Amino acid sequence: MVEFAIGRNIGAKGDKVIVAAKNSDIVKLLGAGEKSLSGAIKKLSKEDKIKEFNLGEYSVFAGIAAPKTPREWQKIGGGVWQKIKKCRNVKIALPGAKPQNIYDFSFGLDLASYAFNKYFTKKPDSFYPALEKISYTNTGLKNMDGYKPTAGLANAVRYARDLINEPANELTPEILAADIKRLEYLGLQVEILEEAEMKDKGFNLALAVAQGSVNRPRVAVIKWQGNPKQEGFNIGLVGKGVTFDSGGISIKPAANMGDMKQDMAGAAAMAATMKSLALQKAQKNVVAVVGLVENMPSGTAYRPGDVVKSMSGQTVEIINTDAEGRLVLADCLTYIQKTYKPKYVLDMATLTGAILIALGHTFAGIFSDDAALIKNLRAAGELSGERVWNIPMDAEFDKLIDSNIADMKNCGPRIAGSATAACFLKRFIEKGTIWAHIDIAGMDLSEGNNVLYPKGASGFGVQLLNTLINGKL
Ligand SMILES: [Zn+2]
Repeated sequence: MVEFAIGRNIGAKGDKVIVAAKNSDIVKLLGAGEKSLSGAIKKLSKEDKIKEFNLGEYSVFAGIAAPKTPREWQKIGGGVWQKIKKCRNVKIALPGAKPQNIYDFSFGLDLASYAFNKYFTKKPDSFYPALEKISYTNTGLKNMDGYKPTAGLANAVRYARDLINEPANELTPEILAADIKRLEYLGLQVEILEEAEMKDKGFNLALAVAQGSVNRPRVAVIKWQGNPKQEGFNIGLVGKGVTFDSGGISIKPAANMGDMKQDMAGAAAMAATMKSLALQKAQKNVVAVVGLVENMPSGTAYRPGDVVKSMSGQTVEIINTDAEGRLVLADCLTYIQKTYKPKYVLDMATLTGAILIALGHTFAGIFSDDAALIKNLRAAGELSGERVWNIPMDAEFDKLIDSNIADMKNCGPRIAGSATAACFLKRFIEKGTIWAHIDIAGMDLSEGNNVLYPKGASGFGVQLLNTLINGKL
């Protein structure tokens, strides 16, 4: 029979790990003389789970149905991680797997093995996986060089999660900007706009949000020019980076306010997407602009009723200082269009609680007037497993943000709250720009129900955008 294996007892002979094979394949691979094992495997029902068997000296993990999609392979990998993290040296056989299947399986291991435990002063043994080495056998692969682009994506997802999990006292706008600046070692160009430059350039809405906090704002501009034959930037990314959102003068209730350290998840996803493109040496020219502010109540904070002139020249009446993300995004959208004129602009933000009511934790909401972009985003969502669903920006919704004393107000009524937020952003999109807004407020935090997203920051959006940019855009 084919020998692959090893399980949890290092040095014990014959422990096995077999995954992702059809029952008939497993039986075939086990060969003669393994009757008890093959008999047990035959009894497996068609469950989408990793099953474990202890049969004498063997420990067998079997995925029942052969996975089909990349996400299914990733989930099998993630499930196997839970079973092998206490092993030191694991050999894995994936009968019938093509190289891409093995990369997807490995990606699942990578995503599932993420942990954020830097702030515990006492670290129990369980924080340290015993695993030192995984090798694939019986795959026909000579090495894992082909995994590098996928490993780059996994690295970027971890980067986003790390940033989002950081508490707000350890990740102010200034610190986040400095962290993004470090990405230059990968060949990205990063320009940090400090407060004086933000004033010069007219980031008035973003500055209004920031004016209540002692932690001063920044804007980070991140550029990747992977295609020297093409001039300029075809794709522009914009992210909301509110490092802590108290709600400002329209202060939030106390319950779960600590989660508002994650209100920079859009900016983290955009910075991480740029990192993924650099690690993959993607032949694309992409620029990202992320607005980094803290929203606090104080004697200097902006107030409900204030009117602020945006970079675009349009005036905004502030109704609710907790609807601050769209203000930060609006100036960043104007800046990226004016400065770089990208054909496509995508923005990502934990923008509205209302999107959770509409789409739960299953889909991010997308808003766009471009049918092809919606189609491509939906397809990238299904392929990457980071799913999205589109919601209309009807003219009726847009009317709801008309103001009596300014060009618009920053907040409509409670109904259609995600759509009115999108309509607000749309007022800052110039003619000819192909734009989509992605509201990830329901997706930035994982409860740990999906093996690929350990509890805490999900890093949602990095896989979606990487798939989109490397695909049809
Ligand atoms: Zn808010």
